[in-house]
Amino acid sequence: MTSCGIEKNNNTEQNLIKTKVLSQAEQTALTPDCIIKILKKGNQEFANNQLTVRNNPDLIRDAANGQFPMAVILSCLDSRVPVEDVFHCAIGDIFVARVAGNIVNVDILGSMEFACVASEAKVVMVLGHGDCGAVKHAISGTELGNITEMLSKISPAVAQSKTEFQGEATAKNTEFVDLVGIKNVVLGVQKIREQSPILAELEVNGKIKIIGGFYDMHTGKVQFFEDIDSGKCS
Ligand SMILES: [Zn+2]
Repeated sequence: MTSCGIEKNNNTEQNLIKTKVLSQAEQTALTPDCIIKILKKGNQEFANNQLTVRNNPDLIRDAANGQFPMAVILSCLDSRVPVEDVFHCAIGDIFVARVAGNIVNVDILGSMEFACVASEAKVVMVLGHGDCGAVKHAISGTELGNITEMLSKISPAVAQSKTEFQGEATAKNTEFVDLVGIKNVVLGVQKIREQSPILAELEVNGKIKIIGGFYDMHTGKVQFFEDIDSGKCS
């Protein structure tokens, strides 16, 4: 059992992850803080190579009856960030929205509102990552087809980062690329609060939490930004 009471292994002899998806009762019992703890613990297990084997046939059968995911995570497209694995989650645990540069647009906002209102997920996370190709191209000003419009949504993070970065502000500088990536997460969280009154109200009322995260490409560890406005992170 985890500290939040969700059974992760009900078949310890074979080291299989649970055979039933998250139920409505389990989802209802979880608070946003509890879910953040579960995600943190899952990420530690991922980084420590402690992922359990999944009993997918059983989970698939059980999932056919419905879904009650605990969180919605907006991730980049990058193939090196396998979101469910990164948080040691199985079928039915989390919604995952993916788009290059983990940008927030109206369709992503609608998806998040669907996740939190219709399906009662309680944590919204924007998950960026190091060495992000979309961020690099936004820094370089790449223009090509629909990519141009997509990258324009990362431009505010590039502009803000340039004002506070002292070194070489180019796509070749890993330090600058990651600074823009983190800034892009922070601005993404702010955009969700500003452009989704529904999610903002749920957060003010304590029903959900909107947080950021940044995946380290070298360690597999996620840095959590739980209170972006106050700069608090863990
Ligand atoms: Zn990326």
